Amino acid sequence: MSQTFTGIRPSLWARCVTAAVFQGRGVSEAEPEPEAREWFFRGHVFEEIVMRQIEQKHGRENVQRQVVIPIPGVGEGHADGYLIPEKALIEIKSTVAAYPNSDTFQFGVEQLRRYLAYHDEAEKGWLYMIDPGSMKPAQVYTVVLTDDDRERIEREREHIAALGDDGIDGPIHGTGWRPCTRPSQARARLCPFAAVCFEGWEPPDATEVTDSATLDAVSRLYAIKTQKAALAAQSRALEEGEKVAQAELADLVDVGDSVVGPFAVKRTHVVMQPRFSVRAFEAAGHSVEPLAEFFTVGSEYDKWTIKQADAPGDVDFGEAPF
Ligand code: SF4
Repeated sequence: MSQTFTGIRPSLWARCVTAAVFQGRGVSEAEPEPEAREWFFRGHVFEEIVMRQIEQKHGRENVQRQVVIPIPGVGEGHADGYLIPEKALIEIKSTVAAYPNSDTFQFGVEQLRRYLAYHDEAEKGWLYMIDPGSMKPAQVYTVVLTDDDRERIEREREHIAALGDDGIDGPIHGTGWRPCTRPSQARARLCPFAAVCFEGWEPPDATEVTDSATLDAVSRLYAIKTQKAALAAQSRALEEGEKVAQAELADLVDVGDSVVGPFAVKRTHVVMQPRFSVRAFEAAGHSVEPLAEFFTVGSEYDKWTIKQADAPGDVDFGEAPF
């Protein structure tokens, strides 16, 4: 069965197909925490700031705001803006992680791709990422919809429009259309359906290991990690003072060698290498395959996290976030 309904947010769909299905079915949404509500409000404030800047730069007559994009069988998307001469849809994200390696970037790219798939004339998207902490101008990333993206998104849309009508349980946890493997992961996706999605879910039992060699190694690693964390906290506190002193010296000491009382001071001006983002490159519709020979294969390693367990075998899988 398929039906048309309003209220599915493409911003949520971009984060999780199953969440969009829940929204389409009219499952009641958990209330966001007050803190999350403030994030959403901050998003609106920075959308206003950036859209005003865009209107100033390109002319108000060339910019549409809150662009409604009908999505068949699903409802409507609302892009933050559309720059008519450029045929570019605009999405604005305010985030302290305003760089392409962040989840916010990837979710923003996917949201724009969904708008591009169903807007009549847009040829590209522009993702504005602004860091509210620095108030520097937003970084702008181009987003392009490839044929593969269009097919993938259309398959998702059909699944959502059919209300996920593929069996009572839906996709299994930890797969593309239902990515979370524990309730706490819903937070990063701003999903209000964690309790429904994980209804009846039991955390898997942890393996209990009792031999003394393992306990000894874990105890040593725990002590080292605790000590490293304390030293890192001290180092972060010192960095503040370091930055202040360096900023003062920048006006007082020239580049090169100086002698200041009993100290030999060398000031070196460093220009960072330009950085290249594979994720931003791909979002703009380019393939990295021709560049394969220039990539170094990443090394593999295991990451260890050790905390005090409340009881033997206790593992924290987190609570539903909202
Ligand atoms: S809890 Fe995670 S997997 Fe489940 S609907 Fe929400 S975002 Fe999707």
